[in-house]
Amino acid sequence: MSGLVLNNVSKQFGTFTAVENVQLSVPHGTFVCMLGPSGCGKTTLLRMIAGLDDPTSGSILLDGQDITKVPTHKRNLGMVFQSLALFPHLTVGENIAYPLRIRGAAREDQKKRVDELLALIHLTGFGDRPVSKLSGGQRQRVAIARALALSPKLFLLDEPLSALDAKLREAMQVELRQLQQKLGITTIVVTHDQREAMTMADTVVVMNGGHIRQAASPIEIYRRPADTFVADFIGSTNLIETRANSSGVATVFGNPVPGFALPDGVQTATISVRPEDVHLTAPGNGAIDGTVTFVRDLGGTIETFVETGGKQIIAVSTPRERPDVVAGQAVGIVLSPEVCVVLKQ
Ligand code: ATP
Repeated sequence: MSGLVLNNVSKQFGTFTAVENVQLSVPHGTFVCMLGPSGCGKTTLLRMIAGLDDPTSGSILLDGQDITKVPTHKRNLGMVFQSLALFPHLTVGENIAYPLRIRGAAREDQKKRVDELLALIHLTGFGDRPVSKLSGGQRQRVAIARALALSPKLFLLDEPLSALDAKLREAMQVELRQLQQKLGITTIVVTHDQREAMTMADTVVVMNGGHIRQAASPIEIYRRPADTFVADFIGSTNLIETRANSSGVATVFGNPVPGFALPDGVQTATISVRPEDVHLTAPGNGAIDGTVTFVRDLGGTIETFVETGGKQIIAVSTPRERPDVVAGQAVGIVLSPEVCVVLKQ
């Protein structure tokens, strides 16, 4: 396959397993975000792809070639780390040209490529400016251009935007994604910011405890989370215990949800229901009975907390579809079968 393949890659530090049996295919030209809590192993995995750490077992293939034992500088990678590591005493142009100079590229070729890259990162005319006189976002773009100078096969970034303030980070996420699409370069970004992953990625790889919990498109991860960890980690959700009744219909807090059945042979399961999929109505008529405990109006959305069966369910609505309820009021909760996602145990 053209692109990157990780075959059963594991990494142990002494007796501690940081990454275990990771299997992943990244098709050529796609954008992957590795997402997970601190310590889940995402940086270790990226470092192995970069050749900065050796896997304890498993293999790494790039465009069909086994690169597991190939040194970093021969892997044809572009890398950007959180620290950026720009040379402060050099100009923007000199920073971008640096890898070309090390490779011995002719001066005219260096200049041509630097001009191309400056245009690509919207910094035409900045070539002679010292990097110390750039804004955070501009520095970020220079680091990206320098990493792309040698037209790498694979572009690796570790928390590249985390030092930027929230507004700039959001703008840079869009810019980075657009740049990647323009170049069609296979890109892997490590982040702990789910919004960042959802904005940029073709595939989000959610990791926890050294394992991949789910690798899928952002919307698939959100709408069809594989397990409780993914459901809870991405956005907010209601995790609800369900049980099959004698007619095979799944029940929630003892109430059957018409049309919703658990998989064959499964008697009990946890389901995920996103708050925007919880519909509130008048009590009765087969709805699940509950009592409103709190209403939080956040302007763009309204969150209604409802207690039922000793548990709290959160419903989110827009101001236009605002449920006209107050704390203490009895309500009915309606779940349609298609919003109930059965999670792996
Ligand atoms: P963060 O978001 O905090 O950077 P991460 O998901 O990138 O976390 P890693 O840096 O990959 O996590 O670390 C995974 C686990 O491996 C952690 O428990 C870490 O302490 C451990 N680890 C990483 N590098 C080493 C090392 N060189 N020696 C020993 N343990 C290590």
